[in-house]
Amino acid sequence: MESVRLKPGKEKVIHQGHPWIFSGAILQKANVPPGTIVQVRSGDGSNMGVAFFNPKTNIALRMISRTTNVMPDEHFWHERLQRAIELRQWIIPGQTTAYRLIHAEADGFPGFIVDRYEDICVISITTAGIEKIRDILIKIIQELIRPAAIYEKSEGSSRKLEGLSARTGWIFNNSDKEEWTVRENGHLFIINPVHGQKTGFFIDQRNNRQLIGSLSQGKKVLNCFSYTGGFTVYCAKQGAQRTISIDSSKDANQMAIRNIRINNISEKDHSVIEANVFDFLRDDGERFDLIILDPPAFSKSRHDLEKAARGYKDINLHAMRKLNPGGLLATFSCSNFVHDELFLKIVQSAAADAGKQSQLLQTLGPGPDHPTLLPHIEGRYLKGLLLRILPG
Ligand code: SAH
Repeated sequence: MESVRLKPGKEKVIHQGHPWIFSGAILQKANVPPGTIVQVRSGDGSNMGVAFFNPKTNIALRMISRTTNVMPDEHFWHERLQRAIELRQWIIPGQTTAYRLIHAEADGFPGFIVDRYEDICVISITTAGIEKIRDILIKIIQELIRPAAIYEKSEGSSRKLEGLSARTGWIFNNSDKEEWTVRENGHLFIINPVHGQKTGFFIDQRNNRQLIGSLSQGKKVLNCFSYTGGFTVYCAKQGAQRTISIDSSKDANQMAIRNIRINNISEKDHSVIEANVFDFLRDDGERFDLIILDPPAFSKSRHDLEKAARGYKDINLHAMRKLNPGGLLATFSCSNFVHDELFLKIVQSAAADAGKQSQLLQTLGPGPDHPTLLPHIEGRYLKGLLLRILPG
């Protein structure tokens, strides 16, 4: 195995358990193609473990293991997948057949995501390293999970950075279906991995949907950026008097209506509206007891942070004004670059400008099937605040 040597002192990051080493920390590169597994050596030449190496990217090394110095083989990856499966068997609630099985770095697979929907898997590869061992990974998934189908959705800007083009399509599909009905805490959702956003569903919000649903009995709920009605179904099933779901996507709204129907929810009291949330929140109409703001990532890089911050502030400010006094706001950001502290600041300044006082009831994050490595806390992209908004 070729080796890559770090500058003196730079091995500290590895000791701490961070999964990434940036190109600036490297003293001596290996002359190998992107994605090759290399031995990592510290400045004084000692073995630090093995990593995927990409000489072309800013994240040059992605650690695979600190405790082995030999080439990971099929058995190694098999054990890793087994470890990921064990966690899910432990933490996934009953009546739930949609969950994340592999959450990239946090499960020891840098740049690899596997979501499980009933008896199928949807996979996504974003690094050259995982791309190189793709066949092995598909084989072990088949051995350990025996899915009826695997759909691949490997796309996005990080793939481009790694020198890879997009690849989407069925790896195999032994069922005659293109849509699956999953259960989440007993609620039904139709998933279409081909046409849906992400791998088909926003699985990371499962626990937050359960919490918000439990707070909605007898309340009027506004679900902004509702996608296929995840929060809506929970709220309606747990007794919300009325819900309005807002999304700008016709396809998402059609699916939300189908999800409302299959859960036997009254369409009369639970309406789905195609609109731009920014406009809807501004109109001086109905007031609500509970508002959910779960927008797409407004920031895709460090460069558009300011614009993103303006967007978050705008929707939070107007949502606060649309709440009945003492109402609840569940507000989220899934932008990588908008870290917890910045998000809190944005929401604080929205409350100040709206002339409201707010009580922080609970901080929110992704479900436990989306773990974060503790030294890589910046990888925890989904953050949320549950607030009670008081007049002045
Ligand atoms: N809360 C959802 C996930 C939201 S994903 C769930 O639990 O499943 C973000 C959604 O915002 C997408 O469906 C997208 O179509 C929608 N969207 C993006 N910009 C919008 C805008 N300006 N107005 C309304 N919807 C928007």
